Amino acid sequence: ILESTAAGDAGKVVFSFEFFPPKTEDGVENLFERMERMVAHDPTFCDITWGAGGTTAELTLEIARRMQNMVCVETMMHLTCTNMPVEKIDHALETIKKDGIQNVLALRGDPPRGQDKFVQIQGGFACALDLVEHIRKSYGDYFGIAVAGYPEAHPEVIESNGLATPEAYEKDLAYLKRKVDAGADVIVTQLFYDIPSEITAALEPIKDNEEAVRAYGVHLGTEMCKKIMASGIKTLHLYTLNMEKSALAILTNLGLIEESKISRPLPWRRPTNLFRV
Ligand code: FAD
Repeated sequence: ILESTAAGDAGKVVFSFEFFPPKTEDGVENLFERMERMVAHDPTFCDITWGAGGTTAELTLEIARRMQNMVCVETMMHLTCTNMPVEKIDHALETIKKDGIQNVLALRGDPPRGQDKFVQIQGGFACALDLVEHIRKSYGDYFGIAVAGYPEAHPEVIESNGLATPEAYEKDLAYLKRKVDAGADVIVTQLFYDIPSEITAALEPIKDNEEAVRAYGVHLGTEMCKKIMASGIKTLHLYTLNMEKSALAILTNLGLIEESKISRPLPWRRPTNLFRV
């Protein structure tokens, strides 16, 4: 599925949605209700994040299982190396493999809370490259592997002026290529921003009006996607922050979905899996 996302059908723009694990049980149920409505618009895949430092490990695994087997959307799970000896990494990979999930976003992860630098734990990995190599060595081609890329360079190499030196940027890119050479299939980019003064000026008079700010955010997101598409990119990955309306409004503005034309009529019959549920 990731390969087809990477390639995209000629001329066809495809999209995907990222979600994060909510903090409460009610939040999880709300997320699944929204996700079902969003998935009805036929994203290529949906992914679920791995909480910083592994804090949501079991919940992420459970949400990924439900996404793949009950929402029936092609699912990608994020997996980081922070605080993860190889046994825990393998537990996570074996669990999703058992659940029929075949796509992983292999990440190093940020340093645990309160620490400035990422420190490799004993029996763990130093960087995402190690994780990609491990997955390929241990699981062959079973998993589609995505890795993170940084259009503005990774924060650790950005200087106080907000920019990376050309040398640091080159090094970042060369390292990204090593992740691809080690077996990554797809690169998912970090969020990137464009905050010129006209945006702050437009926000100033509406900053206390939540609805107006949201509408302006949808407008900005739409314009940014248009620029991305105009440059020839055919794969849009939306960091939804678990928000249904803004993500769908952007896709509607772009003409990629139509409210009246959902690809999967709701409610559809859930597939029954007698052995796993
Ligand atoms: P790496 O690919 O290991 O690289 C990190 C930095 O170190 C880069 O600057 C790289 O150039 C440098 N580097 C590392 N190893 C080498 C080497 N051998 N040689 C030279 N340079 C090297 N975090 C979470 O906790 N959970 C998530 O679910 C999550 N999802 C994310 C999704 C996306 C799409 C992105 C872009 C980031 C996500 N993050 C997540 C954040 C991510 O964990 C951090 O940005 C982290 O600091 C770096 O992870 P990475 O996989 O890019 O690390």
